[in-house]
Amino acid sequence: MIDTRACIHCGLCLPACPTYALTGSEVDSPRGRIYLMRHLLEEGLAPDPALSAPLDRCLGCRACETACPSAVPYGRLLEHVRSELLPPQGKRGWKFLLDHVLTHPRRLQLAILPLAWLRRGAPFLEAHLPRGLRRLAELTPSAPALPPLPARIPAQGPRKGAIALLTGCAMEALFGEVNRATVRVLTRSGYDVLVPPAQACCGALHAHDGDTKQARALMLRNIDAFALDDLLAIAVTSAGCGAAMKDYPHLLPPDHPDQARVAAFAAKVKDVSEVLAMIDLAPMTREVPGTATYHDACHLAHGQKVRREPRDVLKRVPGLTWIDLPESDVCCGGAGSYALLQPDLSKELLERKLSMIARTGAQTIVMGNPSCLMQIGSGLSRLPGSPEPLHTVQVIDRAMGP
Ligand code: SF4
Ligand code: SF4
Repeated sequence: MIDTRACIHCGLCLPACPTYALTGSEVDSPRGRIYLMRHLLEEGLAPDPALSAPLDRCLGCRACETACPSAVPYGRLLEHVRSELLPPQGKRGWKFLLDHVLTHPRRLQLAILPLAWLRRGAPFLEAHLPRGLRRLAELTPSAPALPPLPARIPAQGPRKGAIALLTGCAMEALFGEVNRATVRVLTRSGYDVLVPPAQACCGALHAHDGDTKQARALMLRNIDAFALDDLLAIAVTSAGCGAAMKDYPHLLPPDHPDQARVAAFAAKVKDVSEVLAMIDLAPMTREVPGTATYHDACHLAHGQKVRREPRDVLKRVPGLTWIDLPESDVCCGGAGSYALLQPDLSKELLERKLSMIARTGAQTIVMGNPSCLMQIGSGLSRLPGSPEPLHTVQVIDRAMGP
C-alpha cells in the first residue's frame, strides 16, 4: 500500500500544479488532494461527489512529482485511490467507450469517421451536437486511416539490430503517420522494426481511471506479444503509453511470481526520442528551414523524466532554428480523457498554452504525445497562420529526406 505520509506538507508542489494555478484553491492542489486521499484511505470516509470532485479535476500530469523534494509518488497514489475507492460511478458511457472503442485503434478509426465528416462537410450540424461529442469532434484530426503496418519491416542497408514498435491506440488511429515516420527513420538507420500484431492497448487510460484489473490484463497481453530476445528496445511514440509501460512492475505486488518478467519488459521500453538519441541515426541530409519550439508532454517530462533527448536530437536538424517555449512543461489540458471529462478547465489550460506558443512566433510546435497533438492541434486549427504541430519523429523524418 502506498504511504501518503511521505508528504511533509511543504507546499513546494503548489506553484507547479496547473489546476491550483487556475482555481487558487487548496483542494485543487497536490497537497490538498493528498490530504483528501489520506482521509479517504485511513479514516474510511465514504467517497461522495463532493470528495471525489477535486480528484476528478486532477490532470494526472505529475508536475507535482517533479517539484516534490520528498519523492511522493503522486501518480501511483492517485491511481491507487481511484482503483480502491472511486469506482467510475455515473460514467457507464465513458467506461463503454474506454473498453470497446478508445482502446481499439481500428474501431476508433471507424468511430471518428462521422466526426471528421462533420468537421469538414457539415460544421453547422456540429454546433448542434451534445457538448461532449462536440468537443470530441473539435479534438479529432481529419487524418486518413492507414492500413496496418506489417509485422516486420526490414532494415535498409547493413542491419544493426531490431527495435519493436508499440503503435498505441490514439496514436495509430489518429496520427498513424507518426508511426510510419518512426518506421522510416529506424529502418533507414539500420534497424529491423517489429510490429507484433498481437500487441494491445498499453492500459494507461484504465490505470488512470482506477481500473487496475483491466490495466494488468492488458499489460500481460503485451508482455506475451513482444519477444524480447535480440531486441534493442520497444519504441513508444506516445508519452502516455511509455510512462504506463515503464511503470508496469507497479501493477503487480512486489513478490508476484511474474515480477521479473514484467521488470525485464519494462526495462526495454523507451520513448522514441530516447531511441533516436541512443542509436547511430542515418544522416539528416535535408534542410528543414524555419523556426520551431518544443512542448514537453507531461508523461514524457514528468512521468518519464525525458526532457534532454528530444531536444538533443531535434537540435541536430539542419536549417531549423529553435526557440524556447515559456512554461514548456505545463500541461496543455489534453491529459488523455481530461479534455472530454473536464472541458472548462481543459480549455483554460489550452488557451494559456496557445498564448505561450504565439509568444515564440515559431512556425512549428513539436511534441511527443497524441493527446497533446489533439489538444494543441485543435486550438491551433482555429487560428489562421498558426504553427504546424508535429511529433518529434516527424521532424527527424523530414530531415532525412524523401
Ligand atoms: S498531477 Fe498535476 S493537476 Fe494533479 S495535483 Fe499533481 S500537478 Fe496538480
Ligand atoms: S507532495 Fe511533496 S512538494 Fe507537495 S506538499 Fe507534499 S511533500 Fe511538499
